[in-house]
Amino acid sequence: MKLERLLPGLSIAALGLVVLVTLLSLVWRGSEPQPFMVASANPYASEAGAEILRAGGSATDAAIAVQAVLSLVEPESSGLAGGAFLLHYDKTADRLDAYDGRETAPMGATPALFLDEEGKSLPFLEAMIGGSSVGTPGVVKMMWLAHREHGRLPWADLFTPAIRLSEDGFAVAPKLAEAIARDPVLMQMPVAQDYFYRLDADGTRVPAAEGDILKNPAYAETLKRIAAEGWRGFYEGPVAEEIVAAVQNAPMRPGTLSMDDFAAYEAKKREPVCAPYRAYRVCSMPPPTSGGITALQILGILSHYDLKGMEPMTQMSVHFIAEAMKLAYADRDKYIGDPDFVSVPAKAMLDPAYLERRSEELDASITRGKARPGELPDGRAMNWGLNQPVDMPSTSHFSIVDAQGNVVSMTTTVEGPFGSHLMAGGMMLNNQLTDFSFLPEVDGEPVANAVAPGKRPRSSMTPAIVFDGNGEFYAAIGSPGGSRIIAYVTQTLIALIDWDMDMKTAISLPRFVDRNGPLEIEAGTPLEDLAPALRELGHTVEARELMSGLHGIRVTPEGLDGAADPRRDGNVVSELP
Ligand code: GLU
Repeated sequence: MKLERLLPGLSIAALGLVVLVTLLSLVWRGSEPQPFMVASANPYASEAGAEILRAGGSATDAAIAVQAVLSLVEPESSGLAGGAFLLHYDKTADRLDAYDGRETAPMGATPALFLDEEGKSLPFLEAMIGGSSVGTPGVVKMMWLAHREHGRLPWADLFTPAIRLSEDGFAVAPKLAEAIARDPVLMQMPVAQDYFYRLDADGTRVPAAEGDILKNPAYAETLKRIAAEGWRGFYEGPVAEEIVAAVQNAPMRPGTLSMDDFAAYEAKKREPVCAPYRAYRVCSMPPPTSGGITALQILGILSHYDLKGMEPMTQMSVHFIAEAMKLAYADRDKYIGDPDFVSVPAKAMLDPAYLERRSEELDASITRGKARPGELPDGRAMNWGLNQPVDMPSTSHFSIVDAQGNVVSMTTTVEGPFGSHLMAGGMMLNNQLTDFSFLPEVDGEPVANAVAPGKRPRSSMTPAIVFDGNGEFYAAIGSPGGSRIIAYVTQTLIALIDWDMDMKTAISLPRFVDRNGPLEIEAGTPLEDLAPALRELGHTVEARELMSGLHGIRVTPEGLDGAADPRRDGNVVSELP
């Protein structure tokens, strides 16, 4: 064949080769490791996550290591004997999964669990401390489920950092020391009194102070069992038996939690709730947490107003955000409970037309005062869950992005600080059942969040993952703070999206919360100067400590931008694996 006749073929082949090489290099660049990032409430926990990511672990692997360490170093907030929600974004599959590891009420629980002999609600502290507030723990089974689907390293390896720290000891962080010192009952509790206090020469108990080294060999044993036996190591055998014994023999208000409850516990995968906000798409957990729906309602109402034009921390922006919070919290209190037990009108609550109607109720010149819930189907599901009287550090949120771009946004809790205050297997046992409404009915109407055997108490946890206009991962964020969580997370999303703030600025912003009551503003911040202007609009303004604990990560053209809440002890670790 003549060369001239070969040439076109050759140039097509050459072109083909160029295209192939370009495509391959694109694919290659796509899978090239990027820096990973962990943002959590404690440096030991962030480092444990980084250790796993350095070893080639996935975001889910790292999350398990972080949680195992938090249970040790931040036991006042979360632990393996508690519950959690995990939102996972799988970069390759472009898929978002929501994992529910919320505790369940034992089979022996009745609607009268937190009522006195006269049928009145127990005082919160009385209900919280002891055995009857302990729900069947969900964290370990949830982590197992997520690991089965998104784990890369062997399960057993994920517990190595926590085992090492339990055996070698860890330095008590400022918030843990403060929580021990402030706690009214921890010193009287079996097991905990010997772990969190030491006896001085004259026999008085001295609380562990910041920087003291604590070792927890009992927890190391628990971890070794879970590492070796998987979820069975926690839900069957000695660990579960010790928890059951601690609950049933509790010195105050013994509970009914049994081995049958452990056997029956299932973590669940649920459909995340998502809604557009400006050019972004915000996703979070569905019920049994009220967090996702309520946060999306607040944003949906505010999407009809120009927050960008209002500027952060001004009379108008605080007023409009607070008014939207009132409306959404009013719906939350009426309609949300465990969706496996009550029908939650989630779709109707997030219907754009409904939220537009709600937005029309806002008035720039005056607060509406107490908001009433909107008219929706299934209006019988009244919910009068009680708020916690104390706002102390409990619950923890962490965000992780791995080198392949997979994301975990996880909020985890033992409920109140130190949970039920019972300790077993080196872990604090949760008091999550006090997140149920204490009253099973109000004015003859059933309450959506009433106690029932096997039911999950309503939560406020709001782990969020945000996507940009191209559907690419943009940010992961969440916070502790009881029912204020929803306000903390929403405010931070607004700061990121409407006010183009970086993560550190958004997380550090002075906090304000309106749970359809007074407008709470963070004491000692410039918001106090704004109080007179807010009172002019009719708001009842109360300055107080507002302990958010936001840990978030955001994508920027320059790379990942993460931050830890200055109100807590956390940090961010990021590096190339
Ligand atoms: N137990 C609460 C919930 O699940 C969280 C408590 C807290 O953040 O202090 O909503």
